[in-house]
Amino acid sequence: MGVLSGKVVVIDPGHNGGNAEHPEIVNKKVDVITKKKPCDTTGTETDDGYAEHAFNWDVAQRLTEALESQGAEVVLTRDGDDGVGPCITDRAATANDIDADAAVSIHADGGSSDGHGFHIMEPVRIKGHNDKVVKPSHKLAVAIRDAYEEGTGLPPADYIGEDGLNPRDDMGGLNLTTVPKVMVECGNMRHSGDAEKLSDGDFRQRIADSIATGLTTYLAAPAV
Ligand SMILES: [Zn+2]
Repeated sequence: MGVLSGKVVVIDPGHNGGNAEHPEIVNKKVDVITKKKPCDTTGTETDDGYAEHAFNWDVAQRLTEALESQGAEVVLTRDGDDGVGPCITDRAATANDIDADAAVSIHADGGSSDGHGFHIMEPVRIKGHNDKVVKPSHKLAVAIRDAYEEGTGLPPADYIGEDGLNPRDDMGGLNLTTVPKVMVECGNMRHSGDAEKLSDGDFRQRIADSIATGLTTYLAAPAV
């Protein structure tokens, strides 16, 4: 039991360790309503070669533990870090099919080396698809933004979005979701200061705990 007892959260660790070796699978185009996009992508890495898919997987494990310790049921969109995919359409379906209370995708950005900080991508209305989840997703984005800034000390990104929020109509995971969902870009792997933090296990724990805090705040009062 715990404050999240009865809540179902889907965690989507972006990309996968086997994607780079299987372009024939991940480059296959899928329909995300506003455009066609590759099924999945390889993600970015730090200048020292710490891969985003490994970062995402590690944070997802820590976040799973934090949420389960509060009583949540957690479902992941992939079961390891050496597989291929799944497609972004299937990642969205994982949360939709079980009508999760919230879903969060974990990423780190590959911006220019002078860009710094985190941002949270949230859905904009795609008529007839995600209409009902735009408002709750915004509330989820704000809750995680506030907890992330306070818990990690990283600032909102100075190169993209506004005040750490970045509404998007070109992300499959956000266009296709029927549950409240955001994508967290935890920092910029191409910025040396951010990369040093993202590469540190203790800091990744702070990231996971901060995202858990934001989810808990949202799930305590999800209705808009
Ligand atoms: Zn990514």
